Amino acid sequence: MSSMLVAEDLSAVGGISLSAAVPVLTAMNYQVAALPTSLLSTHTSGYGVPAVVNLADWLPRVFDHWTQAQLDFQQGLIGYVGTVELCQLLHNYLAQQKLDLLVVDPVMGDLGQLYSGFDDDYVAAMRQLIQLADVILPNVTEASLLAGVPYTAEPNLPSVLRQLQKLLKPGAHAVITDVTKNDQIGCAWLTADGVQFVGEPRLAGHYNGTGDTLAAVIAGLLGRGFSLTRSLELANQWLHIAVAETLAESRSDARQGVALGGLLRAILTLG
Ligand code: ADP
Ligand code: MG
Repeated sequence: MSSMLVAEDLSAVGGISLSAAVPVLTAMNYQVAALPTSLLSTHTSGYGVPAVVNLADWLPRVFDHWTQAQLDFQQGLIGYVGTVELCQLLHNYLAQQKLDLLVVDPVMGDLGQLYSGFDDDYVAAMRQLIQLADVILPNVTEASLLAGVPYTAEPNLPSVLRQLQKLLKPGAHAVITDVTKNDQIGCAWLTADGVQFVGEPRLAGHYNGTGDTLAAVIAGLLGRGFSLTRSLELANQWLHIAVAETLAESRSDARQGVALGGLLRAILTLG
């Protein structure tokens, strides 16, 4: 069994981020080191202002203890971090770890805007963190922010992807996650043959936690040795299952993250 460090916020209510990543990666046979970067009473979409604890004082103690205990991780996944200081703490710790795989989802904005509380310094801290990554998973907004180009909903993918690749170490991949192509939503990345795309039909509505779940699935598959293309194909198929299941539930509360039952069954049938 290999051991994956997952660092992102823990929102007690809402079923996204760490609460989604742990079951997904457990089903994929990982030992998960679940490291909350902050604690929230709920996620930040639709519940009002959550009670938040910033864990910047705790993280260095965690890293000291893990170092003393000689704990090693083979893979890492970073999702929502939250502050420049936390980005730097993670960067400093991970720079000393010899991970086989680090996936970074540079969560910081959507629809052309930084999320509230973030500024250019945060974008700069994220640019530093992704230098350690093997794969990054920005949405179109985050890709524009990292690349330093103006946001458009349908960007010039070859150009933005080339800019992103320049921020990464050799051999690493930038994958943009919410690319629309015809009636499909999916992922775009660059190879020697040009821009590649895998997607699935877009279903009605907007859902919480899709990006977090997608990132966990991609990190899990890559860590199990699947190629980038195959990992992205399966991840998009499985997220489609999760969104379709959520839609079929006709939920009265739309704030909860996507349904994971069908996705977990799909993972387990992979063997
Ligand atoms: P987030 O904004 O949470 O980061 P994204 O919008 O990037 O999430 O979505 C992540 C993935 O979830 C997409 O690549 C796609 O596979 C799936 N997905 C999201 N929304 C839909 C939808 N409406 N219909 C089908 N699949 C979706
Ligand atoms: Mg995302």
